[in-house]
Order: sequence, then structure tokens, then C-alpha cells
Amino acid sequence: MIAMLTTLKITAHDLNNPEIADSLKATLLSGGLVIFPTETVYGIGGHALDPQAAAAIYAAKGRPSDNPLIVHVARFDQIDALAYREQPYIDALAQAFWPGPMTLVLRKKAIVPDGTTGGLSTVAVRIPSHPVAQTVLRLVDVPIAAPSANLSGKPSSTSFSHVEADFLGKVDVLIDGGDVPIGLESTVIDATGSTPVILRPGAITQEMIEAVLHEDVLDHSESLIDGAPKSPGMKYKHYAPQARLEIVAGSDEAVVRFLRQAIAQDPHIGILGPSELLDQLQGGIRFDLGSRTHLEAMAHQLFAALRALDDQQVPHAYFIAVNEAGVGKAIMNRIYKAANHRIITLDESSKGTP
Ligand code: AMP
Ligand code: MG
Repeated sequence: MIAMLTTLKITAHDLNNPEIADSLKATLLSGGLVIFPTETVYGIGGHALDPQAAAAIYAAKGRPSDNPLIVHVARFDQIDALAYREQPYIDALAQAFWPGPMTLVLRKKAIVPDGTTGGLSTVAVRIPSHPVAQTVLRLVDVPIAAPSANLSGKPSSTSFSHVEADFLGKVDVLIDGGDVPIGLESTVIDATGSTPVILRPGAITQEMIEAVLHEDVLDHSESLIDGAPKSPGMKYKHYAPQARLEIVAGSDEAVVRFLRQAIAQDPHIGILGPSELLDQLQGGIRFDLGSRTHLEAMAHQLFAALRALDDQQVPHAYFIAVNEAGVGKAIMNRIYKAANHRIITLDESSKGTP
């Protein structure tokens, strides 16, 4: 049982007030927790070199302690204190994508406590670009461990109402920065070997990485290596709404036919997908994620839509699959997990019934 805290709610603007800034710094340096917006999702931050702060993050999230935290710093010159930059491509990736939604897994230095890395010999590091995240990091001038600010297993928080719902009374400070710009967690890349390996797809896509490095990179985000997930987080339940979520994939005609039948059988069925197909449906509880010609905009709506399923107590929902090119890969990666890999594949000849 975690004791209830008095949570201070502030806005990004309040960080300009020297008294508030000083007290925020004192909170983080003494092991307290602060939730702040980043360009990907909201993060729950604590002093990354203080094992007790890391333990407090795990406790507040209800996160299994072998699922390591991402360590955030403001500037590239802070990386070398934490980890070894062994591969030549690391600097090229940093140059291209930092500050930004990319996390690199590097071999850690002894200063990073096992409590932050779940006992691994590597540490995941990121330089966020969001101005509020940058302000917080520069203010404290220590590395901040900041996993996604959601209760373990739930969708990440992309707006302030999400963090209030999950963490009021459980952390010291919440910083309201409005809706986050991207809405999907960072691309995680294992940068310990001679070839970079994508462990979690995100807004920095495989295509973008390959264009910078002029070489093929590997994507292990869906694979189990030697029977054990390469990134510890992969084995846990993720993003799951209370609804039983299923993916439907197939031609537009087959998907629309299937969903019309599903709505006829159950008018309370939830349907998440692109406008192009939702516009062809009536009834059901529809969550329009926008045009599939704008996958970034669909990604931005995704977690809010999953949370809305819970808010509206929808018991059963379908997600219409999108093409896995570009950011579509990251969208489908999150949805496979949210749906516990349940997928209904329709083709013209199949008589798939809801
Ligand atoms: P979150 O902080 O909630 O965005 O999740 C961080 C993700 O990065 C999880 O999937 C972790 O398993 C992964 N991660 C963090 N540190 C490491 C590491 N040292 N090696 C591999 N994956 C990591
Ligand atoms: Mg997370």
C-alpha cells in the first residue's frame, strides 16, 4: 500500500517562477517524483542515480521491477557519464534524432544503479526535445529516469487528464503541459552491437534510421530471442483497455461488411479505426482516429481512444488494422499488445462472422 501524497499541480508557465522552480528541483534531488510532458508521452520522473527514487517510480506505476527505466538527459555531453558509446553509428543517430523521440540502449557505467536498469548491464538513454522536459532536466542537472506516466499495463498518458486520473495522490508534482505532440512512446534501439536493432518502433521509423545510416537495421520489436524478450518490457501486458479488443484486417469491403454485421448483432460494440472506413458505418460506439493518409495524426489519437473505451465502459471493441509502413508499424505494435494479439483476418472469400 502506497501512502497518499499531497500532489502539487502546476503549469509549464509556473516553471518561470523561481520559488516553484527551486522547490521542484529540491523535490527531485531528494528522491521525489514529478510528472512532466515530453514530445512522446507524459513521463513519471525521478533521480536516475538514486535507487530509492527508482523504487518509488516502480511502486507508483505498479511496474514489475525487472522492466528497466529510460534515463533522460538534457544534452549529448551528459551521455558519457552514464554509458559507453562503443558503436560508430551512435553519433550519427544522435546527430540526426536527438533531441527527439529516440532511445538508445548502451552498455552502462557503474554510476547507474541496478535499480534503474532492472539489473541489466545496459541502460536506455534519451534526450527529449519537449521544452518542458528540457526545462526540468536543465533545472535539476542530473539524469532523470522517466518511464511513461501510466499505471503498469494501461495506455500511456498523452494528455493531462490521463496523468491526473492515474497519479493524483501518488506523486509529488504534476506539470500540466497540455496534449503531447506525438502520442506514442520513443523508438527504442539496441545500440550495443555492430548493427542497430529496433526493440520498440516509434515515430522515428526503421526507414528514417536506414536513410541516416545508409545500412539495413534489424527490427526485433515483435520477436522473442532465445525464448526471452530482448527488451524486458516486451513480455508484460501493455496498453490494455478493459474491453476485449480484437484487430480486424482485410480488404475495405470485407472489413466494412464484417463490422456492419457486428453492429447489427451488438449496438454497443466499440470500433476504432480510420475515417475512410468509419464513415461507411452507422451505429456502434465509433472512435474515429482520422484519415489513414495521416498515420502520425492517428498515432496521436490512439491512447486517448483506448482510454475512452474504458471511460465509456465498452465491453468489446474492434480495431481496424492499418498498413504497417512508417509510423503504422508503431501503431500496430501497440495495438497487437492492447489486443493481446487477437486478430481476425478477412479475405474476399472468407465468411468471417463477428
Ligand atoms: P517506458 O519507459 O514505459 O516507455 O518503457 C521503456 C521501454 O524501454 C521498456 O519497454 C523497457 O523494457 C525498455 N528498456 C529500458 N531499458 C532497457 C534496456 N537496458 N535494454 C532493453 N530495453 C530497455
Ligand atoms: Mg510504458
